[in-house]
Amino acid sequence: MAKIHNFSAGPSILPQEVFQEASQAVLDFNGTGLSLLEMSHRSKEFVAVMDEARALVKEIYNLSDDYEVMFLQGGASLGFLISAYNLQGANKKGAYISTGAWASKALKEGKWVGEAVEVATSKPENYNHIPKNYVVGSDVDYLHYTSNNTIFGTQFHNVPEVNVPLVCDMSSDIFCRELDTSKFDLIYAGAQKNMGPAGATLYIAKKSLIGNSSANIPTMLNLKTHADKESMFNTPPVFAVYVSMLVLRWIKKTGLKQIGIMNKAKADLLYGEIDRNTMFKGTAAEEDRSIMNACFVLNDGLDESLTTSFLDMCKTANISGLKGHRDVGGFRASMYNALPLDSVQALVDVMKAFEIKYA
Ligand SMILES: *Cc1c(COP(=O)(O)O)cnc(C)c1O
Repeated sequence: MAKIHNFSAGPSILPQEVFQEASQAVLDFNGTGLSLLEMSHRSKEFVAVMDEARALVKEIYNLSDDYEVMFLQGGASLGFLISAYNLQGANKKGAYISTGAWASKALKEGKWVGEAVEVATSKPENYNHIPKNYVVGSDVDYLHYTSNNTIFGTQFHNVPEVNVPLVCDMSSDIFCRELDTSKFDLIYAGAQKNMGPAGATLYIAKKSLIGNSSANIPTMLNLKTHADKESMFNTPPVFAVYVSMLVLRWIKKTGLKQIGIMNKAKADLLYGEIDRNTMFKGTAAEEDRSIMNACFVLNDGLDESLTTSFLDMCKTANISGLKGHRDVGGFRASMYNALPLDSVQALVDVMKAFEIKYA
């Protein structure tokens, strides 16, 4: 089987060693004679998996005992609603920064719960940058933002400084570099971009907010339900949690600092080529470029048919997942933690060959 350079935006590349170990667990989990898929989630073997996954999140992110870690379901798309319900306070009002498609969806879900106001947006410029000068009044219960905009290739490189509780959808850049997690009241992330397979959703919540909402919350959407039962209120997505745990072990072994250095090196290599190469241009404002998802298009004046030519050359070089999202067009290279630098180099080589052939 040829090695594929996997630039998929999600579900996406995971460490090769994790695939090996996960496949073994499907056949015989830790010598129990049972597949992980046929075991009770209440068995001591699986409880140990859940405990280790939660403990690894705490350790990797240096979380104090003020935080609760949970692995739930529903994806980040349900997180939009869960965050709004659980953070509602006396004002019954949340503030949102709209930096892309996912951020706007979060705002929309916030409106199911209370008032949800947009304090800043980059929509008029097709979300090509991160708004900088916005004001968040003290009359809101929280500020919600999306740290990395998977579709538009922009990323917050600084945590917003506000005096209200801060909630963040970190689906596509969780564990991409070191982070001062003490600034957050709630972090949530679907696993399938940078942490594991689809099916598990990570919540990191300040214990002081759990159970203190002013909203009347349905049972499954209440973080208290899940915190009280250590993520075992109902059957957890056992396989997704197990594979996430394996990825977390890999992150711990590699070190978050080192992962941040490697991600920066990959992004520098690719953006350097996008800027140098006469055939391409980046779509995101330079200072807000994402180190996870790089969006680029054909340079001005070039024939649109070259898009297919470039994608064909990528395919020949075993590069997969490069087609841009329909809202942006062009190309998107997602460079999540497990993507090796070699894969970015392979892409850069094709970009250079494309320029030589068609310029
Ligand atoms: C992919 C993505 C989502 C949606 O995640 P689901 O798990 O499919 O609900 C939400 N937010 C961001 C930033 C994403 O990248």
